Amino acid sequence: MERDQTLKKLQEIVGEPNVLWKDVDLAVFEYDAGLDKEVPGFVVFTRTAEEVAQVVRFLHGEGISFVARGSGTNLSGGTIPLNRGVVIELSRMNRILEIDLPNERAMIEPGVYNLTLQNALAPLGYYYAPDPASQKVSTLGGNFGENAGGPHCLKYGVTSNHILGAEVVWPNGEKAWLGSKAVDPPGPDLLGLLVGSEGTLGIATKILVRIMRSPERVLTMLAIFKNLEDAGQTVSDIISEGIIPATLEIMDNMMIRAVEESMHAGYPLDAEAVLIIELDGLSDGMEEQAQRILEICGKNGVVSTRRAKDAAERADLWAGRRGAFGAVARLAPSYLVCDGTVPRTKLPAALSAVKKVGQKYNLAVGNVFHAGDGNLHPLILFDDRNAEEMERVHKAGLEILKICADLGGTISGEHGIGTEKLKGMPLVFRDSDLEMMQSLKTAIDPKGVCNPGKVIPRA
Ligand SMILES: Cc1cc2nc3c(=O)[nH]c(=O)nc-3n(C[C@H](O)[C@H](O)[C@H](O)COP(=O)(O)OP(=O)(O)OC[C@H]3O[C@@H](n4cnc5c(N)ncnc54)[C@H](O)[C@@H]3O)c2cc1C
Repeated sequence: MERDQTLKKLQEIVGEPNVLWKDVDLAVFEYDAGLDKEVPGFVVFTRTAEEVAQVVRFLHGEGISFVARGSGTNLSGGTIPLNRGVVIELSRMNRILEIDLPNERAMIEPGVYNLTLQNALAPLGYYYAPDPASQKVSTLGGNFGENAGGPHCLKYGVTSNHILGAEVVWPNGEKAWLGSKAVDPPGPDLLGLLVGSEGTLGIATKILVRIMRSPERVLTMLAIFKNLEDAGQTVSDIISEGIIPATLEIMDNMMIRAVEESMHAGYPLDAEAVLIIELDGLSDGMEEQAQRILEICGKNGVVSTRRAKDAAERADLWAGRRGAFGAVARLAPSYLVCDGTVPRTKLPAALSAVKKVGQKYNLAVGNVFHAGDGNLHPLILFDDRNAEEMERVHKAGLEILKICADLGGTISGEHGIGTEKLKGMPLVFRDSDLEMMQSLKTAIDPKGVCNPGKVIPRA
């Protein structure tokens, strides 16, 4: 079909103003928070599940590829419209459809921001556990696509542990309901297959999530260390002790300085590492746990510790952590966020190995990460106008993933594979595993139109 006819048909489905087709408009959608870029064929803003289904049915019939997009904050190229595919933009599907407190469930459209849901739940005494640092702007559809994590996922699990159902548009445009408000649905776990599949197997148009009661008490502490490995060891020791805090987050000196310059969160500039420890739950027993944690910090050479005195001080500590990626923009024009996971006991070894990679490739590397999950986020700083430096960045990124894999971990904790980590997949999967993934993809999307070229490396 000619481009003009495709445009006309898309306009018929969603209305003329809801299709972008001019080069200048399309350029805004050629990138996400990863490194790769490609200009889309069209961008289509959908407002209902039925519109998504009709658009997908039409594109599938024409053999034109498409990609679902929330806010485009994914860090792995997941929303890059390869082959000039069509971007299906879901940000206007942003209604909270139901908050069902007795059943502790909420039904939302995919374009709802994570923080919008949290803000709707907080006055009711409830919250949604997965809280990516990008929660102000990332959508629950994008969280679904990436199986997003966040600081609170240490204790409560990642997105897949909190999604109970979804209305889905399959790659041929058929709609289906997977899961329900009840637990333990029978049959193969198709919903589980979809969550974290980076929009390669279908598009969620409604999402049913678990919500939880807000804890009776929250206690937030900051521990300051003279080296990063000691902070990593402390994390491993706290959990070995049988204590599961709500969060254990680490930032190194480069990140501390960037955050302090940009938002004055109250971190000491001379610390080599800070560890944010948050306990939540019943008041009973919390002081004893906090005391035991302080002893463990002491055993690992902590320089000092302090407690957030009130909600405002707690909010400052978290604002610093959540704003860390943004603050890095002060240090270099671009950065690559690596995302690998290791068993917690291997954190000190992984951190030293990452430092050596930075030295080997002469690159500045900062660290800010969900330490409790063993989920590292080394940030490699660079200038993308320098091609030679870019090459070193790619090599260093892959080497960091290999370190994680060799230590018994994996190549993504939460940011997905997208286009950027395709080369890393053979580090953790055998050829036969990848073939099985491709067979699943082909069974669900035989024409290969649904976000092609992501997650599974081509032979
Ligand atoms: C500063 C910063 C901090 C971040 N912190 C975290 C963090 O703490 N934890 C974390 O996990 N991530 C983090 N991220 C990464 C990113 O925010 C998450 O991956 C987030 O889930 C993406 O949401 P989005 O709305 O931007 O999705 P997009 O980037 O638009 O899409 C992400 C993927 O999901 C697919 N998708 C989108 N909508 C749907 C849908 N309705 N159905 C099916 N598939 C869909 C897309 O095709 C794509 O493959 C961070 C990113 C930044 C820039």
